[in-house]
Amino acid sequence: MLRTWGVHNAPNLCENRGTVKEACGVFGIYAPGRRVANLTFDGLFALQHRGQESAGMAVSDGDTVMVVKDMGLVATVFDERTLSGLSGHLAIGHTRYSTHGGSDWDGAQPIYRPVGRAGFALGHNGNLTNTTALAEKVGMLPGAIATDSDVVAELLAHAFPETGDLASALQAVLPIVEGAFSFVLMNAQRLFGVRDPYGFRPLCLGRLGPADAPEGWVLASETPALSVIGATFVREIAPGELVVIDGDGVRSLTVPWLKEVSPRLCIFEFAYIARPDSHLYGREVHETRCRMGELLAEQAPVEADMVMGVPESGVPGAEGFARASGIPYGAGLVKNRYIGRSFIAPDQQARGDAVRRKLNALSETIAGKRLVVVDDSIVRGTTQRSVVRMLREAGATEVHLRISSPPWRWPCFYGIDTPNAEELIANNHSVDEIRDILGADSLAYITVENLKAAITVDAGFCDACFTGDYPTTVPQATPVTLERTRTESSDDESMIYQAALPGV
Ligand code: SF4
Repeated sequence: MLRTWGVHNAPNLCENRGTVKEACGVFGIYAPGRRVANLTFDGLFALQHRGQESAGMAVSDGDTVMVVKDMGLVATVFDERTLSGLSGHLAIGHTRYSTHGGSDWDGAQPIYRPVGRAGFALGHNGNLTNTTALAEKVGMLPGAIATDSDVVAELLAHAFPETGDLASALQAVLPIVEGAFSFVLMNAQRLFGVRDPYGFRPLCLGRLGPADAPEGWVLASETPALSVIGATFVREIAPGELVVIDGDGVRSLTVPWLKEVSPRLCIFEFAYIARPDSHLYGREVHETRCRMGELLAEQAPVEADMVMGVPESGVPGAEGFARASGIPYGAGLVKNRYIGRSFIAPDQQARGDAVRRKLNALSETIAGKRLVVVDDSIVRGTTQRSVVRMLREAGATEVHLRISSPPWRWPCFYGIDTPNAEELIANNHSVDEIRDILGADSLAYITVENLKAAITVDAGFCDACFTGDYPTTVPQATPVTLERTRTESSDDESMIYQAALPGV
């Protein structure tokens, strides 16, 4: 049985700070004897940074699945009254940023599919790369596809009658699904978690209660969503792993994947997407960002009076740069805390204005100083151009930009919403040209090698947006159409990839 409510459309609250936009956050919990709706709310609240367009949860008492989802932030969609109506010990939840499909209620998750007298709910983080082929398989017309996640739900619903249960339907369907997916799913009795064989997007397992007497199990995109509800981190769900959680505990089920691949966790999770207090590949993200700054200081030293970060994800890199260079660290920009990660900004001009609404310079701190300014990435360059101008107007004598991601030259097909390729400033400009466009005195990006070295783990990464090395076939034939040309400068970062890139 399914009930839904809360379906009015709220205004779109998303913004664009001239950078990439996040993916989605997923959460799942199985805790017999507990009312888990409030715990799911807390978990989703901890994952709010991964998606701010819509939020939702499905809750089961073992018999009835209830789904509530709506446009808006977690705290907008759910209040005490809503949560008190959601009774049950099993739930999944989702925070969404639309990387596939529109930003509207139809795309909000969890998705629910009734199948006979049963049914299941699904939450998805990532983007599939063979959505059209999959949709054809189940006879969905292109115009009828709301999202790639919808197609997976449809495939599972089709497989259900033949296989008889959700676990078997997953085992039948997953091998033909390509691209990036961390799924949480549930029927009325069981919780499921799946990671694609490359493990593009994170998913971890936590435990409620002591190890020798577990009181429940939790799945989450990031580890802070475990901590906030008092769960203990157990392990990451392995790439390619399907887990089922019920009264018998946690079990891994075999999926007959069509080929074996090696893990390729999104390296941009470390540079920007994940919370600083998240642990990925066993490393605390904040510390890896500090090390990115340290390595930048070694790679691209500069004489200066103060190091500062662009709030907030540029700050740990600035701390690291200061630590390694011996240049004092200071705060040169204040961020308006009551502004989201971005707003809707229809054009470049509006995006520039958005930066001014969000950031303001501390003129007494920076006047007369030569500044090193660390930021996490440059996508269009809108933010950095505004920041440089703002700092000069506040009296900085020099502004040296140091970026803790390599130049972003290719679009992402795995769940991070990047602009069209032609809007990526590094796609059609050399580093020297970008420096001039941004108005900085110098500009250096961390190399891919140093970015990996900063994470200090011997594991596989996806770095396709920086290298063009896509681990899978992507919807358009991007890498093969690249023509690599060398500019005057001989360093690697000045290689320009002139690509006939499609829009995403
Ligand atoms: Fe992450 Fe870039 Fe790979 Fe996308 S292309 S998954 S943003 S590293």
